[in-house]
Amino acid sequence: MAKKFESLNPATGEVVGTFPINTENEVYAAVTLATDAALRWNALGHKGRRTILLAYSRLILSEIDSLAEKVTLETGKPHSDAKLEITLAAHHIAWAARNAESVLRTAHRASGALMANMSATVERSPLGVVGVIGPWNYPVFTPMGSIAYALAAGNTVVFKPSEYTPGVGVALAELFEHVAGSSEYFQVVTGFGETGAALCTSGVKKLAFTGSTATAKKVAALCAQTLTPVIAECGGKDPVIVARDADIAKAVDATVWSALSNAGQTCIGAERVYVDEKVADIFIEKAIALASTLNAGAPGEGNYGASTMPSQIGVITSHVKAAIKDGGKFAYGSMKSIQEPFVQPVILVDVPESSAAVREETFGPIIIINRVKSMKEAIKLSNDSRYGLGANIWSKRQGKKIASQLHCGMVAINSTFSFAAISSVPFGGVKDSGYGRIHGPEGLLEYTYARTVVRTRFNLPLKILSFKRTAGTDRLIVRASKFLKGRLG
Ligand code: NDP
Repeated sequence: MAKKFESLNPATGEVVGTFPINTENEVYAAVTLATDAALRWNALGHKGRRTILLAYSRLILSEIDSLAEKVTLETGKPHSDAKLEITLAAHHIAWAARNAESVLRTAHRASGALMANMSATVERSPLGVVGVIGPWNYPVFTPMGSIAYALAAGNTVVFKPSEYTPGVGVALAELFEHVAGSSEYFQVVTGFGETGAALCTSGVKKLAFTGSTATAKKVAALCAQTLTPVIAECGGKDPVIVARDADIAKAVDATVWSALSNAGQTCIGAERVYVDEKVADIFIEKAIALASTLNAGAPGEGNYGASTMPSQIGVITSHVKAAIKDGGKFAYGSMKSIQEPFVQPVILVDVPESSAAVREETFGPIIIINRVKSMKEAIKLSNDSRYGLGANIWSKRQGKKIASQLHCGMVAINSTFSFAAISSVPFGGVKDSGYGRIHGPEGLLEYTYARTVVRTRFNLPLKILSFKRTAGTDRLIVRASKFLKGRLG
């Protein structure tokens, strides 16, 4: 009999659902089905796929209450946060559906003087089957950044959700089946790491992974065996830079929300703040005042929910302990703020940059606020990280100048991580935060490959690509090349 596992409500420990632990053979069978289905999905053309994906976006919105309930039960986040996440995902599905045709249109390129008789085009072809491995923190929004864009580009998808949120993954596929009339275009396999590992070796044509950097390295190593390309959307330690000309009230409001909402389990959430020493006291004072109005609690009771993974409590505890041992101070909260499964807000100040609390992703409702003497120092410290996912800057005049010097994939000026909600811009990181992009035109292009097609429009009297090329033709090519200063191609 097939082995099963349970997903639990992190706020209460109650069983939410029971799901199969799909074996390697079952994963391979799903990919085989998806490979055949890819021919049919691709044959629908952009218009056919657009109709289905727009219907999917609408269905997700009309079913938002029941889907949000599933998200709340499996992650412990407030219903309102679950609804926001689902709304944004529906927005991305519709954007991908509406824009795939124009972004992936065949491009005509100049063929150059030497090949003037040729037409040159680049077509974008779907890859076939895309494997998607997702995390639990935004179980609708995050994987949908890959699933919707891969489907819109003409691929079929096999999705392995996190073991903490399998019910949400299954629900997403069921809703898609409802509009597509087939369960084979978008399938879900459930289980633990081994099920995800099987997807990596299953023959998918690309693997879109979202999760921790450590797991991304395992996934990339497995995929390397078959040269399967990987998109890696990994962790972050996102900095917030606050200049002396910042609107402090707005900066505090957005930064505290970014750091604490979803119990701090946001890859692009604020983890460290570098604030100009001239405005640091007022920033810290306002941050404490706001944090003191917020509580973690069960859905319907707290401003944010439980830590979804029990093991994360250990990471949070070790980082806060390290911050204090290394010389940092509690500005708000204490070790007692960290209780399982709810972690109350903690604000730490003046934490040495060498501390694990500053260097590693905490993924909890903890904010580190450090004072800097200048924006130059803030930029240096922001960049001195193995991560490079997102960053926020608060400044009335220096935002763009600071943004241009940050080594990361996404920057928001006078805003928090709003870039995730703008479908037309790519999402992704550099360094240990990963590579490849989801969302936007770049996110559609990721799920295609370029196919070059050149065609003879008329024949030239010269024979260039032939054993019949003469010495005279050689001289002509060199002379023309010199005259055109090398601009032959
Ligand atoms: P993990 O790396 O633990 O897991 C991610 C996914 O990989 C899960 O589905 C997991 O399955 C699966 N997996 C685990 N081991 C393997 C393996 N050997 N081979 C293949 N798949 C495997 O991450 P979390 O789920 O804990 O997610 C949190 C992390 O995700 C944080 O670091 C966060 O910053 C990052 N993240 C990044 C985002 C981005 O866009 N850059 C967005 C959201 C989160 P299982 O759960 O069953 O073990």
